[in-house]
Amino acid sequence: MAGLGGTRGTFAPPRLGCMTRPTADFAHTAPSPKKVPTLMDSYDRCPCGSGKKIKFCCSDLLADFKTLEKMRTGDQLRAALQHVESIESADKPRAALLVNKIALLRDLERHDEAREATRWFIERFPDNPIAMSEAALEAAAEGDTRRSLDLIFSAMAQSPEVFHWQTYQAMSAVAEILAVSGDPRAARALWQLEIDLETGDNRPLSLLTQSCFSAAEPLMLKDEPYFDEGTADGPWKSRLDEAMTSLGRMVWPEAVAKLEKLVGDAPDLAAAWLNLAILRGWLADREGSAAAFERVASLDIPLEDAVEAKANAMLLADDPLGDKMDGLRMTFRVDNADELAGHFTTARQFEPIQVAPGMFDGEEVPPKAVFLVLDRPALGPGEGPTLDTMPHVVGQALLFGRQTDREARLVVSGVFSNERELIENLIVSAGNGQVTGPAEVETVASNSATVALLSPRWRAPISRNMKTLHDAIRRHIEQAVMEQWPRLELKSLGGQSVEQAARDPNQKIAVLAAVLVLENLVWRVGQSLDFNRLREKLGLPTLGPIDPKASPIDRLPLVRFHRLAVKELDDESLVRACNRAMGFGASEAARRLAAEVVERPGIAAEVKERTLVTMTHLASDAEQVMEFIEAGRSLAESVGKSSAAWDLCELRFRLTSGDAQQAKGVFDHLVSEHLREPGIADAIRQLMIDLGLVDEQGRWLGRREGAPNELDEPYSESLDQPFAEPSAEPSSGLWTPDGERASGETPKLWTPDMG
Ligand SMILES: [Zn+2]
Ligand SMILES: [Zn+2]
Repeated sequence: MAGLGGTRGTFAPPRLGCMTRPTADFAHTAPSPKKVPTLMDSYDRCPCGSGKKIKFCCSDLLADFKTLEKMRTGDQLRAALQHVESIESADKPRAALLVNKIALLRDLERHDEAREATRWFIERFPDNPIAMSEAALEAAAEGDTRRSLDLIFSAMAQSPEVFHWQTYQAMSAVAEILAVSGDPRAARALWQLEIDLETGDNRPLSLLTQSCFSAAEPLMLKDEPYFDEGTADGPWKSRLDEAMTSLGRMVWPEAVAKLEKLVGDAPDLAAAWLNLAILRGWLADREGSAAAFERVASLDIPLEDAVEAKANAMLLADDPLGDKMDGLRMTFRVDNADELAGHFTTARQFEPIQVAPGMFDGEEVPPKAVFLVLDRPALGPGEGPTLDTMPHVVGQALLFGRQTDREARLVVSGVFSNERELIENLIVSAGNGQVTGPAEVETVASNSATVALLSPRWRAPISRNMKTLHDAIRRHIEQAVMEQWPRLELKSLGGQSVEQAARDPNQKIAVLAAVLVLENLVWRVGQSLDFNRLREKLGLPTLGPIDPKASPIDRLPLVRFHRLAVKELDDESLVRACNRAMGFGASEAARRLAAEVVERPGIAAEVKERTLVTMTHLASDAEQVMEFIEAGRSLAESVGKSSAAWDLCELRFRLTSGDAQQAKGVFDHLVSEHLREPGIADAIRQLMIDLGLVDEQGRWLGRREGAPNELDEPYSESLDQPFAEPSAEPSSGLWTPDGERASGETPKLWTPDMG
């Protein structure tokens, strides 16, 4: 990956030679949308897809091509289509005309006809690379991504010299579908391929960068293993190289076929299995990829490699640890809703919730009352919360009164299946004879028990002191990892608990892999914890520091980066390693490396400042954000620069995190110390506009929803489920220096070797 450092998870390693880059042929192959008009001549590539020049191909149609081009540039799409239809013949179809017809139909948004024409085109010209590309686009639109990929690579194999823009278009479409349909690995591989084609399109790089940085996926899936080149004198070396040559020529399915044949002949060749695992993943074959990783883990290779392969296989499964539990919705029969509401209101494990206007819009009948169900009594105003006394939200109860066609009922949702009994008992006993049931229990979702363990569901009057909150989260996660998780029974360990399996030597790799998966999950929520303590507790081998001289960083998997002996890295390698870790959102490694970058006297202040800016994006909590801001401020001052930019960072952070008092302090400081500096007044104004505090004319718009006053509430809303859904936005509510991540736009991520 040229942009993100090294050749990791990308094309052929350098020693296998550069890949053959086909000449991208975007002009004249067909009227591409909004193309700069150029006049076609007989030495242009023929639009029929043959790869030849018009003069030596469809020269009889040159006049028509010119007419069509003129009409298109004049925006006469309908006329152009009529022209094509007037000269095409059903008996003797011409590829060049079909290409034009489909492009025009698409431009006219006549998609059904375009699909029909594409079907006809590929039927008549099954080897035509443009027909294949158009068919790939249709397959992608129908959600058949694997067929789409097959067609794209067939199109590329069919015309190795020329690359048609229709192929590129299909590639972009299928990549985006893969990214949203849960296969970002395959999407990233395609984006990398698009980047390597050097078309001048910036979108793939931006999407790839975003995807790598995003915390939506575990680090291991984003950072794939390197291709294994095998041992130089190994008996299968030439066949391994041969497969990798197909990869270099961008024909991935051919490489997969060769590797599959190779592992048939050499079933214990780890290098072939590993490369196969990677490539199947690129081709959206998750199951096949997982199976190959599984095979790698079973072969005679170093323990750590085997553990990582096994963890990769696990992460590719729908239920990585085998700890899925059902999310339930339980319905109880109620005698008298008003009386029940009265009972609940006096019970300390039921907290009434104000129903906000509009909350139940669209529902036929709104509930009479809504309660949070707590697993232990709510704390009184004077009671200091501790991890043991803090109540957890175990369900949300909606109470419905009697309706003409329905009895009164209580619907409890968000219930984990392992807490079903607890809820039943709670409700029946607090209901004091008013409730029976449950009459109905439905499975409405499923959730990983491990993820649930890591996510506090507290309902507690935590002080507004953020430090207390973050300390509590840290302690919660530590307790979950060290105490509760080892007792969890995992299907991935044959249904044994982690502790039990750890005592079985045959399960060593699987248990270590499960620990690594857990570590990935903890990183994903931005937390840091010494997992060697867990390994020790389980009697498993621990992982030591890595000497970069013995293991060069260019071939080191990112999951090992946090173990790098940072002092042993030279300045250049350190910065490179840090950028790589930051680019992939490897928060744990990035924190350690960034701390060392800032320390090094030989590294330029500018590099250090950029590192700190990126680190504020990766910070897991407010305390960390402030540490980076402070470091940035003193760095700027130490080189005689104004630190106003960092003050602005802090101002935004304070405002978005609702800390009105601190915000006022920073604001006053900016006004008194920096207002005369160029751009500062504008920057403050822009910040206020961005946050919706003032309008373009500078008029005060009042308090933003979710801003300062919320903090006065005894129950901080952010405590509900700080990361109930790590996949969506684990750092939600956290500040980013310029709000990029928060608003979901491309992070302006700085990576020095990206250019
Ligand atoms: Zn032709
Ligand atoms: Zn200042």
